[in-house]
Amino acid sequence: MSFSRDDHGSTPLKAETLLITAGRDTEAQKGFVNPPVVHGSTVLYPTAEDLRAHRGEFQYGRRGTPTTRALQQALMALEGSQCAGVGLTPSGLSAISTTLLAVAKTGDHLLVCDNVYRPSRNFCNGLLARYGVEITYFDPMIGAGIAELFKPNTKAVLVEAPGSQSFEMPDIPAIAAAAHARGALVIDDNTWATPLFHRSLEQGVDISMQAATKYIGGHSDIMFGTISANAKAWPQVAEAIQLLGVCAGPDDVFLALRGLRTLAVRLAQHHQSGLEMARWLAARPEVIRVLHPALESDPGHAIWKRDFTGASGLFSIVLKPAPQQAVDRLLDTVKLFGMGFSWGGFESLVIPFDCAAYRSATTWAPGGPTLRLHIGLENVEDLKADLERGFAAFNAAI
Ligand SMILES: *Cc1c(COP(=O)(O)O)cnc(C)c1O
Repeated sequence: MSFSRDDHGSTPLKAETLLITAGRDTEAQKGFVNPPVVHGSTVLYPTAEDLRAHRGEFQYGRRGTPTTRALQQALMALEGSQCAGVGLTPSGLSAISTTLLAVAKTGDHLLVCDNVYRPSRNFCNGLLARYGVEITYFDPMIGAGIAELFKPNTKAVLVEAPGSQSFEMPDIPAIAAAAHARGALVIDDNTWATPLFHRSLEQGVDISMQAATKYIGGHSDIMFGTISANAKAWPQVAEAIQLLGVCAGPDDVFLALRGLRTLAVRLAQHHQSGLEMARWLAARPEVIRVLHPALESDPGHAIWKRDFTGASGLFSIVLKPAPQQAVDRLLDTVKLFGMGFSWGGFESLVIPFDCAAYRSATTWAPGGPTLRLHIGLENVEDLKADLERGFAAFNAAI
């Protein structure tokens, strides 16, 4: 590496600046601001000796290109000094599955937070169970009480903070202290906050993964995952990536890097607009509860305030009890809130959900129909007017 703009010696750059400067190699990019999109499998070696020794900066397309290196360097700078390595995967779910395969083997036990992303749970109950890995789900609000759930064969704890539908906020430092006392690793699905708002690796997490499909990509145009690990966990993660043959497509790598450059301004707006919409919704007569850890009334607020520096634009609401057709009228009336899965793009979204079928350590009984909202980058007055029309249709159908 001939040149790195993030090497500023004694004055460490702030995260917003690192997002702009990290992973840029002006000389190697022949002066261009962005790296080339390297489509490549074969890397040619100049001599037989070099080939035999796999000598060279790059060896084979699957193992990395100048484009993947730029993104990995930028993510490493963002994660901070605890980060020993970053893996890139073709989806957020593959970041989770690769990580869990890296840490667990037949006969091991994992502790998994009851509010994890449903496909993560499906992976645990499906493939991991089939391979003889035992799973215990736990209440996200368990805190230090998790100590009682460890077994001699517990290898890792998987948390998601907050859960991306129900928004309970686990106490990661308390969970990490208990896990480390028993030699277990802590894995955090950090998709909601990103490393910009939650510095997982500095709070005791050993492996922090993200669905970069969401805020890092930021434009609803890629499927992508990242795995960041500290020095203790990185060798295991790197080995699994290598053995499984996990890699990401070059165009998506480029788009992930492009998204990363504007993450700070986008997230600041998602935070502000999301909180404003959450407060507005909390005052609506149709809404009995807003599930958003940055609201003072939220049960996870104290933990959020202590451990996070911001909130993203994703939260849920509980409507007053109403027949499904009234909820459907609301959903079919709103125009700016698209109906669809995923989130983290520039656009607002809404989905109805019901976690009851995918809970085992806790009971999901919110007291009314639940909707998850993603507040995008539209003007909030337009979003309020859109929801007001939706609520009018809801009320008319009750
Ligand atoms: C979307 C999501 C994932 C999975 O990401 P994909 O890129 O869709 O595979 C994992 N965790 C959370 C919290 C998510 O929201």
